[in-house]
Amino acid sequence: MDLNLTPQETKFRDELRAWLATNLPKDWDAWREKPLEESFPYLRAWQKKLSQDGWAAVSWPKEYGGRSATLMESAIFWEEMARVEAPPMANSLGLGLIGPTIIAYGTEEQKKRFIPKILSAEEIWCQGFSEPNAGSDLASLQTEARLDGDHYIVNGQKVWTSYGWVGNWCELVVRTDPVAPKHKGLTVLLVDMKSPGVEVRPLRQMTGESEFNEIFFRDVRVPAGNVLGKVNDGWNVAVSTLMYERGSYGARLHLIFTRNITRLIELSRKFLRNGKPASEDPVIRQKLAQCYAEIEIMRLNQMRAFSRITATGVPGPEGSIQKIFWSELNQRVQQLAQEILGPYGQLVAGAGHAVDKGIWSYGYLRTRGNTIEAGTSEVQRNIIGHFVLGLPRSY
Ligand SMILES: Cc1cc2nc3c(=O)[nH]c(=O)nc-3n(C[C@H](O)[C@H](O)[C@H](O)COP(=O)(O)OP(=O)(O)OC[C@H]3O[C@@H](n4cnc5c(N)ncnc54)[C@H](O)[C@@H]3O)c2cc1C
Repeated sequence: MDLNLTPQETKFRDELRAWLATNLPKDWDAWREKPLEESFPYLRAWQKKLSQDGWAAVSWPKEYGGRSATLMESAIFWEEMARVEAPPMANSLGLGLIGPTIIAYGTEEQKKRFIPKILSAEEIWCQGFSEPNAGSDLASLQTEARLDGDHYIVNGQKVWTSYGWVGNWCELVVRTDPVAPKHKGLTVLLVDMKSPGVEVRPLRQMTGESEFNEIFFRDVRVPAGNVLGKVNDGWNVAVSTLMYERGSYGARLHLIFTRNITRLIELSRKFLRNGKPASEDPVIRQKLAQCYAEIEIMRLNQMRAFSRITATGVPGPEGSIQKIFWSELNQRVQQLAQEILGPYGQLVAGAGHAVDKGIWSYGYLRTRGNTIEAGTSEVQRNIIGHFVLGLPRSY
C-alpha cells in the first residue's frame, strides 16, 4: 500500500483542513468532560454542521450524503479530526453501523426516510440486539414479533442498549419464526422508540453514568414496511451491522487514543516516580513507547479494514482483529495512566486535585466494557480462528 498522498488526496485533506479552520468549535474543551447527557445537544449540533457540508459520513456514497471517499480519504478524514481534537459525532451508531446497514439492505423508501436524518443527527439510533439470555449467542434471542395485518406486534426485552435513553429509532432483532432453526427465524425491524408499549429503563454503570439501558416491548405495533431486508433473514442483516461495528470503530477511536497518549506523555514529565519524573523511569518509557507504537499499528489495521470494505463493498471477519486490538489496547493505555498518576489517577471529576477533570479514573472504569461490547474478546477470537484462519469450530 502506497501511503504517500496523491494530488487528489492532498486536495481532499486541504479542503477538510480549510473547513475545520473555519468551523471547528472553539469551546469543546469546556464541554468534553461533562456527562454525555449534558454534552449530547452540543455533539448533535456539531454533527449537523458536519453533515451540512458533507463531512459527517465521508465514506458513504455521494447519493446518500457522503463523499464516496476512498480508503485513503477516509483515513485522512479521521487523522485530521484527531489532529485538531475534534468533538465526536452524536449519532455514532447511526453513522458507523446502522446507516450502512440500511444503505445495504433498505428499500429506496427506507433509505429516503431514514438516511438524511441519521446524517444530520436529527434522529439518533440505538441497536436492540442483546437480551438477558442472548449476548454472545445472539441467535438465541427471544423477543418475538407476530404479524397482525399490516403490523408486527413485538413483545420482549433488550438489554445493554447504548443510547437507548436518547434513541429515536432502534434497529431491533426479533424472532418471527419460533419453530425454524434459531438463526433462520429472525427478522430486523426499524422501530420508532416513541411507539406505545416501549419502555426504556436506565442501567447505572460503575462509571456512575447510565449510558445504556434496558428496553421493554409490550404489544408494540411496528408497520410491516419497517422490516429491514427480508423476513426471517434477520441474521444476515444483524451480522452485517456487527461487522460494520467491528470494522469501522477503530477509525473514530484513533482520535481519542492519539489524544490520550499525547497527554500521557505530557503527564509523565510532571508526575514523579521514585523522586524523578515518570518519563525518566525506564519501565514507564518502555510502556509509553509500546502504547504509542500500538496506536500506530491500530491505524494501519484500520486501513486494512477499510481496504477490505473498499474492495468488496462489505466488511469482513477481519474486523474482529481490529476489535480485539483496540479494546485491549485501550485497557493497556488506561492501566498505564494509572501507573503514571498513582493515587491521583483514582480521583473522579469534581474531586479536588482530580487530573484532567477525572478523565483517567473514568477512562479506566469505562474501558473494562470495551472487551465485552460489540462482541467479547473470546467471541472475536472464535471468529478469527474459524472464519479468518479456517480452523474448526470450537463449539
Ligand atoms: C459498554 C457496552 C455497551 C453495549 N452496547 C450494546 C448495544 O448498544 N446494543 C446491544 O444489543 N448490546 C450491547 N451490549 C451488549 C454486548 O453486546 C454483550 O454484553 C456481549 O455480546 C456479551 O454478551 P453477554 O453480556 O450476554 O455475555 P455472555 O454471552 O453471557 O458471555 C459471558 C462470558 O462467556 C464467554 N463466552 C460466551 N460464549 C463463548 C464462546 N462460544 N466461546 C468462548 N467464550 C464464550 C464470553 O466471552 C464472556 O466472557 C453492550 C455491552 C457493553 C459492555
